[in-house]
This record gives sequence, structure tokens and C-alpha cells, in this order.
Amino acid sequence: MTDTDAATATATETAHAALHARHRAVLPDWLATYYARPIELTHGAGRHVWDAEGRRYLDFFGGILTTMTAHALPEVTAAITEQAGKILHSSTLYLSSQAVELAERIARLSGIPDARVFFTTSGTEANDTALLLATVHRGSNQVLALRNSYHGRSFTSVGITGNSSWSPTSLSPLQTLYVHGGVRTRGPFAHLSDAEFTAACVADLEDVLGQANGTVAALIAEPIQGVGGFTSGPDGLLAAFKEVLDRHGILWITDEVQTGWGRTGEHFWGWQAHGQAGPPDILTFAKGVGNGMSMGGVVARADVMNCLTANSISTFGGSPITTAGALANLGYLVDHDLQGNARRVGGLLRARLDAVAAGSGIVREVRGRGLMLGVELVEPGGDVPSATAASLVLEAAREHGLLIGKGGRAGNALRIAPPLSLTVAEAEEGADALASALKQAEATME
Ligand code: PLP
Repeated sequence: MTDTDAATATATETAHAALHARHRAVLPDWLATYYARPIELTHGAGRHVWDAEGRRYLDFFGGILTTMTAHALPEVTAAITEQAGKILHSSTLYLSSQAVELAERIARLSGIPDARVFFTTSGTEANDTALLLATVHRGSNQVLALRNSYHGRSFTSVGITGNSSWSPTSLSPLQTLYVHGGVRTRGPFAHLSDAEFTAACVADLEDVLGQANGTVAALIAEPIQGVGGFTSGPDGLLAAFKEVLDRHGILWITDEVQTGWGRTGEHFWGWQAHGQAGPPDILTFAKGVGNGMSMGGVVARADVMNCLTANSISTFGGSPITTAGALANLGYLVDHDLQGNARRVGGLLRARLDAVAAGSGIVREVRGRGLMLGVELVEPGGDVPSATAASLVLEAAREHGLLIGKGGRAGNALRIAPPLSLTVAEAEEGADALASALKQAEATME
């Protein structure tokens, strides 16, 4: 290293340390950042991102499942730029052709008959709205949620979250009844076959309903639990639940914030893995629809959506800029069959990860579908969940130029969710980097 290089490296380090110190001084302690030395990302292109120090990474977390098509997709950038040059915001008090067109498109895609769409600015707000609709429609503030679930960070949604790691208060405006079904391979029903597991979860649901105090408004469930570590019950479980819900007149809210838009490969929405269930009553979405812009929403049957009688607008929900960008993003996603790409490339990636897992002493299982793949980590050679392993793998993957996410009930799952345009070569590059990172982490732990 020359003297100039050394001086540049020292200046970069000083600037990074200063930014990190300012971050810690002004942002909340509970606002988590990844890595002992957090990364400052400055730009992206395709499936790659670059940090402020010029390092390039393959983004296997797709932002945070937000970069659905690709980073800096020219079609999306052009639509946003064009819209920004015309009018940035015009509020829902006026008509907007983009908002109407996007709502029509999403209503059609949702599979919900006579659907209405309400745009929000986040997944949390979408779930809040869904819960508001369900509780008003049914005249009850009792809701069912899955254990280990995550639905957002407002007072209402943390109140129904099924894991205390993500729920900073036990106080809630809603009364929540928790049922089994989100985690297949751990917990009291783990030893059962898929059919037996489903039957046990249905019996659990019936039991909980038998003890509920009067009307229950809705069940809210993620088809694959996202923050929970990309875990789910067997296919068909939600269909079995729906039979019970229908008997009681209870609404089914599917939280598709992570599982929507073809991410799971075989299906456009996560709930469709439970095919015979028919469409849900309410569907919530966010994250990938805006390719990183702040957009979410709720789709519901007209009678459910229109049960609110008071006027209620969202100032920024469905704004011209986000709807223009989302239309371009969704158009690209559908026209280029990125769902099909998620199925094909996700299948290859899954096979590579299964092979890597077979040779690793710290991988308990690989799970998920399409380009939503989880890797559960344990202490070497055992079955004890290891959050340490997850942190070590994240750090090591970074050194190999790979960004991944983590989560899970015990913080011990890796979350892999790249943009849906991932190529085969990039899938292989990422799998190789992850294999090296797992080896490195395992060696540190032995
Ligand atoms: N629902 C699910 C399944 C999520 O994973 C998340 C966020 O991770 C949310 C809701 C909340 O979305 P947002 O962070 O956009 O408020």
C-alpha cells in the first residue's frame, strides 16, 4: 500500500466512524443495524449495490425484500422522474389516472371478487387498515394471529405480533388469540406428518375459538412468515383453517407484504399455495410493489372495504409518484415473467443451498420457495438454535461480497430474497459466497 492509499484508507475509516457515531447519537437504540461495522450503501444496479467505500455486493436480500425487480431499473427510474417533473403529490382528494390504473391491476391480480383497493405508505399501515376493516365489519376487537408472526410496528400491529422479540409492549388495542401453524419443523407438532400437523393445527384453532369470548373478527396470517425466518406450515393448511373460519363467519386476512408479487415462484401470492382455500377476504401488500418506494395497500371485498362510514384518507397513500413507479415496476415484473424466473432460478439456488447444507455442521434446514429461501442455523453438530452463527455468517458473507438477511424465532435464520431478476450466474456466485461464509463461521465456532 502506498502512502497515499494508506492516507485515503485512514480518512475513509474516520469518516465512517464519525457517521456511525452520529447515527448512534441521534437515532433510537432499538433501530437495529446489521454488522458490527454497518454498511453505508450509496447506489445499486441490477442485483448489485455499492457502499460508500466503493465495495460491490451481490444483494441477496433485495434491499429488505423491497427491490423486487432490480436496483435502478431504468423503466422505474424513468417513470418516477417523468412524474416528478409533472406533479409530485396531488392527494386522494383528486382523481389520479395512475392510482386508478394501479388499483384496477392489483384488484384483478388479487383474485378477490369485486375487490376494492386502498393505498397506504407501508405494510404496517396496510395491516392496521385491514384490522380496522375486519374489527369494524365484525363488531369485535378479537383477532387470531399465528405464533411467531410479524405484521409491522404500529401500536396495533406490534400488539398482534406473535413473538416478543419484535413486540416491545404487551399492551394492545386488540385482543389477540394465537394459534399454531407458522412453524412446521419446531414446536409441539414438529414430529407429525404434514396431514397430522394440519389436523393438529385445526384442532388447536377450534380449541382456541371454543374458548374465545364472543365474536372473533379475523385471522391474520403470513403464508410464509418473513421476519419469523421464512417458515410456514404445510401447503393446504390455510385452506383447512378457512373451512373453520367460514363456519364462524371469521374473515381471513392474508399478509402478503413479503410473499406477494411472484416472489414464491409457483404462485403470484403466497396464499395460492393453499389453492383450494379460495381467495382471502382481505389481502395486504407493500415492500416490493414500489421497488423500494414507500407504497403498501389493502385489497378487500367491496362489502368489507366499504364498511367504514366515516371519511378516511391517507395523505401520501397512492400518491402520483409512488403509483407511477409501481405501475412501471409491476409492468416490468409481469411482462418479463419474473415470477417464472423466481421459480426457475430459485429452484437452482435451492438445489445449491441444499448441497451446501449437506456439508455443513451448522445448517439445520433449508426452506422456503422461489426466491424466498431460509437457512436455519444451529450450534455445530447439534440442534440448538444459534443466533451467533447467523451473525458470523452475515459478517463472513459480507467479506465475500454478499448481502443476506437474518431473522427467525431465535435470530438464527438466514433470509435470502434477491431481486426476482436474479440470473443463474448470480445465483451460483451467491451460493458459492454463502458456502464459504458458512465454512468460515463454522470454523470460528468449533
Ligand atoms: N408484514 C410483514 C409480513 C412484514 O414482513 C413487514 C415488515 O417487515 C410488515 C408487515 C410491516 O411492513 P412495513 O415495514 O412496510 O411497515
